[in-house]
Amino acid sequence: MLLKDCVAIVTGAGKGLGQGIAEEFFKEGALLALFDIQYDLVENLAKKLDSSGERVMAIKADVTDEMMIKDGMSKVFDKFGKIDILVNNAGISLHKPTKEMSVEDFNKVININLNGPFICSKSVISYMEKQKRGKIVNIASLGGRTGRPGVGVNYAASKAGVIGLTQTLARELGPSGIYVNSICPGPILTEQTKQYSADVFASWNVGRAVKKDGLPQDVADAAVFLSSNKSDWITGVTLDVNGGILMK
Ligand code: NAP
Repeated sequence: MLLKDCVAIVTGAGKGLGQGIAEEFFKEGALLALFDIQYDLVENLAKKLDSSGERVMAIKADVTDEMMIKDGMSKVFDKFGKIDILVNNAGISLHKPTKEMSVEDFNKVININLNGPFICSKSVISYMEKQKRGKIVNIASLGGRTGRPGVGVNYAASKAGVIGLTQTLARELGPSGIYVNSICPGPILTEQTKQYSADVFASWNVGRAVKKDGLPQDVADAAVFLSSNKSDWITGVTLDVNGGILMK
């Protein structure tokens, strides 16, 4: 088991990629804190994974609310005594042509997708510094690496920002033993991507090197690697998990 007894927070764990990451981390032996704005989803997942409540806790947390995040992390520390891993996964998309996008539409996505990882990372640093070790994994996106048809500028800008945040945090926190990396998933069918038409979704896969469609499991496997001691000389990277759609 690669994450045996490591304490991990996964944001946006209620469904989609976050749920996939949580399930894989559980199999790898992690103790889990599932954060989501939709409490019922993480409560159900926590019960499904561990009905005893010993290894998994569910926390209602909006990643844009600093007080809520600090309070959630302190509950995690009270229960498990440490925090080893933070996966900044919560995110949304709100796509419109730029001419039709209001400033509110732009700010909403930046707030959740970029300010959220900033707030959660900032809040976890003191816990990780205490033990002189930690792993932060940010879920960015292929959309933040290269423009994708139909993806809003708010989403692309937020995810490009997450990559910059990752690299700068990696330099700042490396001396404290805290590793910070990002994963850029390609298109994976979840509730977030279901809002796009089949044609747009298919267009994102054009040029893919492998035949296999992307699954939450693919991102979860990469997150396990970047959260484990198998990646102890890797920090500040942007790991493309996209079946070879983009190779850089
Ligand atoms: P999803 O199915 O919509 O799941 C995201 C979860 O995060 C939902 O439960 C959502 O709740 C929650 N959430 C939203 N805002 C939140 C907030 N402020 N605080 C806490 N939780 C919040 O999305 P997904 O497709 O799994 O995406 C997960 C991450 O991967 C996102 O960062 C996304 O941008 C990224 N990503 C996804 C793909 C893909 O193809 N699926 C590709 C590249 C990157 P609500 O349902 O209430 O919003």
